[in-house]
Amino acid sequence: MLAAVNAAEYREEAEAFLSALDREYYLHFSGRKDDFEIEPIYARHAGLFSREAVESLRDGDSRALLRFAAEGYVEQAVKELSAEFARLEASLEVELEGESFPYRQAAVIQANERDPGRRRALERERNELVATRLNPLLREMLDRSRELVRELGWPSVRAMTEELSGIDLGALAQQTEAFLAATEDGYEAIVEPPLRTETGLGFDELERADLASFFRAPSLDGQFPAERLLPTFEETLEGLGLRNGSPGNVILDAEPRPNKSPRAFCAPVRVPEEVYLVLTRIGGREDYETLLHEAGHAEHFSHVDPALPVEHRYLGDNSVTEGFAFLFQHLVEDPAWLERRLGITDPEPIVSHARASKLVFLRRYCAKIGYELELQGDGPVDGLEKLYARRLSEAVHVDWPEANWLSDVDPFFYVAAYLRAWALETHLRREMRDRFGDLWFEDRRAGEVLRELWSGGQREPAHELLRRLTGAELDFSALLD
Ligand SMILES: [Zn+2]
Repeated sequence: MLAAVNAAEYREEAEAFLSALDREYYLHFSGRKDDFEIEPIYARHAGLFSREAVESLRDGDSRALLRFAAEGYVEQAVKELSAEFARLEASLEVELEGESFPYRQAAVIQANERDPGRRRALERERNELVATRLNPLLREMLDRSRELVRELGWPSVRAMTEELSGIDLGALAQQTEAFLAATEDGYEAIVEPPLRTETGLGFDELERADLASFFRAPSLDGQFPAERLLPTFEETLEGLGLRNGSPGNVILDAEPRPNKSPRAFCAPVRVPEEVYLVLTRIGGREDYETLLHEAGHAEHFSHVDPALPVEHRYLGDNSVTEGFAFLFQHLVEDPAWLERRLGITDPEPIVSHARASKLVFLRRYCAKIGYELELQGDGPVDGLEKLYARRLSEAVHVDWPEANWLSDVDPFFYVAAYLRAWALETHLRREMRDRFGDLWFEDRRAGEVLRELWSGGQREPAHELLRRLTGAELDFSALLD
């Protein structure tokens, strides 16, 4: 590393920045604070993301730190736009039949709405707001980001991400195209029966507006009572020997607030000592799924070895943390877990619903990565809303709106982390069952294995972690089973 940046000081400041940013994120998206004041945080730590810092880190020994600096260089330059976006999104209202709701609540209301007419009207209103109010800002952010990445010397976001993450996105997209082809013929036969049970609709009448209601699965509500939500979570951690009577480093925020994000999330404010697990209740099965998913993240971050450098505690390959999140989430469709935690003796409807929704999700993400490679490649962006809508429509078999072509994109190919995480989870789950049996989630030895894996943070990327654990190669085709 060049003298311009002192590595120890850089790491210390990076940690202060990440912690402050995650705290602000937590306060705003948990609905505790209306403002989303990230500009002063970037201003306080501007040196982290200067051109000089990026250039010095190019010669350093940590690709994760270089990635942090390069992505931060882009993010700090669009921070006013991000903050404006968050404020605007929090202030928007959706009108429906004379009633108005906060925009961020509309997704939850739509998922709970039993009347298809009202669901579709809500979706039209939401899409209209996205297209007219949010997309202009998102487009400005996208264009600016593409320019900034070129200023740093990469031809595209894709090229930068591939080099700095070490993930071959093109190869991953080939695997996901193969998955789309292999599941095309059987797709509707797997999805349609539970789809009819939940929505009364077949693919001939299905609209995108109905999907949230399908995932929400109202017919399964009776089996997922609200009062068992937190106890099953506590019992699961206890079964793995992860709590031993102490609350640990995880702080659960389950209180309802009007401006709370409709998506549950985990905010690792200080890793491993202070990790927030924020839950928004929608009702039924999904609450269990999201709580356990976010609990997987929270347990991962709260068990990281505090002696590791900041890049291995906070940064690195997010396929790893998402893999643990999916491992926990998957328990909600595991017949043994359903029986032990919820006394469910006929898990079939839950299992087939879960299989169907997972297939919809997987195909959606498989379609998304191919689209994002175009959006974040070095070609033109105009007109790609058509490609987005076409790819998603073909994958999910519903008319997919163009409006979400920018809002449905997570920064810097996070889509790849989800896809790799699904593959990692498939392997991890198999390993747990092979070693500890169907009741692995009640075996403290399984908890020990997880603790050991978690202690490494994200030092190893997902494919290396898997190779060390089982000798297997991380390949998306593992999901075809
Ligand atoms: Zn996650």
